[in-house]
Amino acid sequence: MDKEQGLGAGRRGVGRRSVLRAAAAVPVLGTVPVIGAGAMTSPALAQTAATDPAAEDLQGAGFYRFNVGSMSCLVVSDGGMSFELHPTFAMNADRAEFADLLDEHFLDIDAGPFTSNVLLVDTGERRVLFDAGTAEAFGPAMGRAVANLARAGISADSIDMVVISHAHLDHIVGLTDPTGAPVFPRADILISDAELAFWTDPDLAAVLSGLPIPPDMQAGMIASVQNRMLPLGNRISTFALDEELMPGIRSVSAIGHTPGHSAFRIESDGQQLLHLVDTVHQYVSGLRRPDWQVAFDVDPEMGAATRQRLLDEVAADRVLTMAYHFPFPALGHVRPRQEAFEWVPVAWTW
Ligand SMILES: [Zn+2]
Repeated sequence: MDKEQGLGAGRRGVGRRSVLRAAAAVPVLGTVPVIGAGAMTSPALAQTAATDPAAEDLQGAGFYRFNVGSMSCLVVSDGGMSFELHPTFAMNADRAEFADLLDEHFLDIDAGPFTSNVLLVDTGERRVLFDAGTAEAFGPAMGRAVANLARAGISADSIDMVVISHAHLDHIVGLTDPTGAPVFPRADILISDAELAFWTDPDLAAVLSGLPIPPDMQAGMIASVQNRMLPLGNRISTFALDEELMPGIRSVSAIGHTPGHSAFRIESDGQQLLHLVDTVHQYVSGLRRPDWQVAFDVDPEMGAATRQRLLDEVAADRVLTMAYHFPFPALGHVRPRQEAFEWVPVAWTW
């Protein structure tokens, strides 16, 4: 990969609704719900996006290169949006207390940032992508991962493997196009055995119905697995949590968000990256108050315990850390602060 960086694709406000409520308002009809579509502030921009997503990138190309030892790595932005953050990211927190914490960090809880970032690791032998992005599921301001890979000189057909952290729609819809055809035609797909078992359980609908997620959103989650991941059939294989996937890449159990959610440790020549994926979502509240529970966590108490455990680990070890929904390039370090943590983003290097 070249040395040059691409500036981050920006986020655009798509209305002051939470993702949960926005999702609930969208008819599902057995397909993947489009969240935030139609809420664009500029029809002209929306029209441009429909023909050429690249032309709408107000903030630049959206890729960031770095190395972990001898492995070449790249984070590509999948785009972003903004929405009301409470109660989605702090179900057990008082709204005013949550708002005060975000205000202290110059964030507005009515229109807080939400972005997605996809990691590519080139081991020298294989190009391994971690999650596949949202495609069209969250509207035209997101779904940029493949376009940003292309801008960095990486074609979809050069990807050897896509490792899925968990089967939520913002991580798997980009695996296939709306017909179920693979977006990464040569890639093997890996997912944890516990995660695949959960989403293919015949009783899944009953299990999800016990969660604080609107029924339409639950239907969308099920539909996205069935329509956008399972069509890949025998390309999909599984790994056990905490297993080494290949030399230098290891699963780290991060269950709670989902029953088979995996973080990943990338190691080469004494250097390390821990990709927390969705162990933590919001870079302020998730670190300052890891005990605040997230509506998308299948087991919110276990999600909080896992968040505390892995944040403790990366803060103690001072290792480079990534989280899928942190602001682009979603790389930085976690340090202790008072009784909890805070995020220190990497300084952009050219
Ligand atoms: Zn996610």
